This record gives sequence, structure tokens and C-alpha cells, in this order.
Amino acid sequence: MDENSIEKFLAEAKQGKAEAQYRLGELYDRHPNLNYKEAAKWYQRAAEQGHADAQNELAWLYGNGLGVPQSHNKAAFWFHKAAVQGHEEAKQHSPTAIEAKRTIELVNIEVELNRLLHLSRRGNVKAQCDLAKKCIEYCNNEKDAEYYEKMLRWLQKAFVQGYSEARPIIFSLVQEKHKQYIISTGKNYKGSSQRKTKLQRVTHCYNCKGHLDNNSDLECLECGWIICTCGACGCGYEEKN
Ligand SMILES: [Zn+2]
Ligand SMILES: [Zn+2]
Repeated sequence: MDENSIEKFLAEAKQGKAEAQYRLGELYDRHPNLNYKEAAKWYQRAAEQGHADAQNELAWLYGNGLGVPQSHNKAAFWFHKAAVQGHEEAKQHSPTAIEAKRTIELVNIEVELNRLLHLSRRGNVKAQCDLAKKCIEYCNNEKDAEYYEKMLRWLQKAFVQGYSEARPIIFSLVQEKHKQYIISTGKNYKGSSQRKTKLQRVTHCYNCKGHLDNNSDLECLECGWIICTCGACGCGYEEKN
């Protein structure tokens, strides 16, 4: 890499000049050692300022998970941003108007949830409650598979940290997942309930190896097994084994 070029753009990039940020991203992007993380960082800054080429490049990095965690939503989001500015290459990858609207919503949710998650991890109780509320709001609108696991984890965290309103939402998410699971086994769905016996049972899910405890997890009304957050219960056990 040409150190002089880096120096040349770095000063301006740090001052917030979008073109310099884009050029810097490009240098890192094309460097033989491929420092995608640095590339993504500078593309991101330029993209946020509306630099169409940077938006297009950033979309590529997101689409391929280079230097950033792979996110097809974010890739679609940035392709769309560049495409509406007339970027020819981005237009070919840009989602349709309807899909774009949805993508933007998803990305906004993702950004907001990640912000709250970040604060929650540092022990900010207000953020934990807000996070759970956001999850609830989102769960009411959507049953997006991509978000299921994440939401469940966030809700469980909030619940463990004392946000009791998270509990019924966790149950409704698991119930929905369980229902889909039963349907996939071809059996009749009878529903689920909280533990009925006095006997506490602790075990592991045969499907995903997740920890199960009928003190906190629901039980299947058909087979009586504890229902895992992956949706599995005994109803699918004989089918698979
Ligand atoms: Zn499981
Ligand atoms: Zn069952």
C-alpha cells in the first residue's frame, strides 16, 4: 500500500470529508493484505454522508461479510441508498421499492436494537427494559425467523435482569415456534402450558442440546415433554430417531 496516499487521505478523512473517506476505504479495500475492516469503517463514514460510491462498496462488503458481519438487510439498504442517487452498479442490486421500504425498516430496527443491546450489556437497566419493549413491539408486528433467536435471547436477558413483562412474550414466541414445529411433524397441535406436576424436571433438548427446565419452560400438551426455545418437544422425537 502506498503510505503516502494513506497519509494524504487520512487527514482529510478525519476532518470528515466524504470523498477522502471513500478514497481511503478504497485504498484499504484494494490493498494486497485486504484490510476490509478498515475499508468498511471509512466507506461507512462516507456512506453516511451520502457518498454513492461508498454506499455501493459498503453494500458489497455487507453482502459478502467482509470486514463487517454479513447482513443482507444492510447490503440491500446501502444498494438502495446508492441506487436512488442514480448509481448504475447499485441499481442492479437494489431491492424493489416495496422491498426497500421493508429493508429500511429492518435496518432501523437492527440499529436501534443493537444500540440498546450495547447499553444493556453494560448493565444499563433502562436500556434492558427499552430493549425488551422494542422486542415486544417488533414481535407484535413481525414473526421474522431471522430475528427470532436474537429477540428471544434479548428478552431472556431482560427477564433474568428483572423485567417480568418479558416472560409472557417469551412464551408467546416459543408457542409460535412450537406450533410450527408440530405442524412440520404432521401431528395435531394441542398447545402448551406451564408445568402441571409438582415434579421439577431439568434436561436437554434432543434437537438443539439447549437447556430445558419445566420450572421456566412450557410443556407440550400432546406429549408432555418440555418445549425448547427451538420449538422441539417429544412429538418430533420418534420421527427423527
Ligand atoms: Zn431445542
Ligand atoms: Zn409434543
